[in-house]
Amino acid sequence: MLNLRVATPEKLADLRHLPGYAGVTRRGGAIRIGAGTTHAAIEDGAVPGRLGAILAGVAWRIAYRPVRNRGTIGGSLAHADPAADWVAVLPCFHGEAAVLGPAGERRVALDRFVTGMLATALAPEELLLAVELPVLPEATR
Ligand SMILES: Cc1cc2nc3c(=O)[nH]c(=O)nc-3n(C[C@H](O)[C@H](O)[C@H](O)COP(=O)(O)OP(=O)(O)OC[C@H]3O[C@@H](n4cnc5c(N)ncnc54)[C@H](O)[C@@H]3O)c2cc1C
Repeated sequence: MLNLRVATPEKLADLRHLPGYAGVTRRGGAIRIGAGTTHAAIEDGAVPGRLGAILAGVAWRIAYRPVRNRGTIGGSLAHADPAADWVAVLPCFHGEAAVLGPAGERRVALDRFVTGMLATALAPEELLLAVELPVLPEATR
């Protein structure tokens, strides 16, 4: 929206330097992808295994490399543009979004996270921390 000169916010918060905001970790049968993880990092193999291969196949089709170097999986999902690739793909995995608000962390099923065009289950004071997706068997297509 900034790129198209549609949004002219009075204040901008740069989230990139929040500890743990970007990056991929495995917890048991789930892979946690920090909201600040860029499309380019996913394209380059940041997510392991079959899940990572599928996500990399989505990521490289997003726009062009300079956009992928800056754009993040969390920013894309929170923005909820119906044309966005992650908005279409992430609900397929039966994963969850980790959301942080004043009362602490809560989870939202990814197939319920986007509630409409440019609308999500996030309250105004909440931050999307990460998406958590299941580790997939190698035969998954
Ligand atoms: C020229 C161009 C071409 C593009 N082409 C494609 C394409 O082909 N496919 C595609 O899927 N996308 C495309 N995009 C979108 C792009 O990939 C980014 O996902 C998008 O610009 C969001 O960028 P960002 O991650 O920096 O989020 P931001 O711009 O920082 O944020 C987007 C919105 O989400 C909110 N937000 C961000 N992070 C959080 C958070 N953690 N918690 C709560 N709210 C948050 C922000 O307040 C803002 O309202 C394109 C973008 C551009 C500029």
